[in-house]
Amino acid sequence: MIRSITILGATGSIGASTLDLIRRNPERWQVDTLTANCSAKELAALAREFEAKLAVVGDESCLGELRAALSGSGIEAAGGAQALCDAAKRPVDMTVAAIVGCAGLAPTMAAVERGGTIALANKEALVSAGEVMTGAVARHGATLLPTDSEHNAIFQCLAGGKMDDVARITLTASGGPFRTWDAAAIHAATPEQAVAHPNWSMGAKISVDSATMMNKGLEYIEAHHLFPVGLDRLRIVVHPQSVIHSMVEYRDRSTLAQLGPSDMRVPIASCLAYPDRMETPLEPLDLAAIGELTFQAPNEELFPATRIAREAIEAGGAAPAILNAANEIAVEAFLAGHIGFSRITAVAQSTLERYEAPAPSTLEDVLAIDSEARIRAAEALESNPLV
Ligand code: NAD
Ligand code: MG
Repeated sequence: MIRSITILGATGSIGASTLDLIRRNPERWQVDTLTANCSAKELAALAREFEAKLAVVGDESCLGELRAALSGSGIEAAGGAQALCDAAKRPVDMTVAAIVGCAGLAPTMAAVERGGTIALANKEALVSAGEVMTGAVARHGATLLPTDSEHNAIFQCLAGGKMDDVARITLTASGGPFRTWDAAAIHAATPEQAVAHPNWSMGAKISVDSATMMNKGLEYIEAHHLFPVGLDRLRIVVHPQSVIHSMVEYRDRSTLAQLGPSDMRVPIASCLAYPDRMETPLEPLDLAAIGELTFQAPNEELFPATRIAREAIEAGGAAPAILNAANEIAVEAFLAGHIGFSRITAVAQSTLERYEAPAPSTLEDVLAIDSEARIRAAEALESNPLV
């Protein structure tokens, strides 16, 4: 049976991996809508290739270019934040939420409110909205299929198990490109070094998050919302080979792990075909060639981000949204060459210390906290060179 699909963030790394799988299985998918922030020409080319019905740019100033690039194709074009949400409300069998950052929150919530099935890659949306999103998922009968590789692994390890029987969930972390570096080298790390991840090929923002370990911190919060077993049952272990993508230990001390190549097409395929399976073009795992799987505790002295994230979710309320917004601002500043690597987590920490807000109960509340936290984080960047 052919299924309709919308990809929010089609021009990104997750978008490209998703479209690669669809390209190989054209009889299974009918693309409804593809979106991007701007990249109008690239988006138009994808919309033409996949015979989409609609293409949307989040940045309205790129709409003219998109229209021109789609002319004669019969594909509708739209632009702006509201157009993204309207696109996400169109009835489809699956929505892939692959916009980066809190920018993806409103469109993802629009798909949730439609009661849709959402392959969720956009972790920042769930981190920021927390219970506002999980509450809406329950109220509207939506389904979140975790696409982040760790959460997809946990989801697979939980199949057939009971949440009550779970003793511990272990998120694995590669440790990022600076795992073996000393404090001075980490402090002096450049954007080029930070985006060169040893195991995964990803967008720039998540690559920097992997280097600071904030990615794992955000994933810890994401896991708490997707698999509510309690924070005391969630832990992180560094596993440099990225072969085990996460694990679930049951109360009888039996641990299930999910293994696979470090290629996002594996978890994406598991969401696309769910509850069935589909082929991917990847080579089978060659464990003998890999040789060793090793593990170590995270070093929170050198990489404080997982501690900061854990404290934010323990505090709850607005703290995770503030953390996420401050991190987005700091990562942007780092990528633009305005601040050094160590200041990314320092800005996140200081913004959390300086800004408190009541717990959000609606999407509008979350977006207001996000906006204010961005202003506060930008002030922290400007005002005090030490934070
Ligand atoms: P990316 O930067 O490669 O792509 C982001 C996409 O979002 C692009 O299509 C871009 O045009 C769009 N976009 C960016 N800003 C936007 C805005 N303001 N409005 C509308 N659209 C906007 O990012 P990515 O690496 O594909 O990551 C996407 C999401 O998936 C992130 O939340 C990331 O944490 C998560 N994720 C990515 C990977 C990975 O391997 N890349 C793995 C796990 C989770
Ligand atoms: Mg991940």
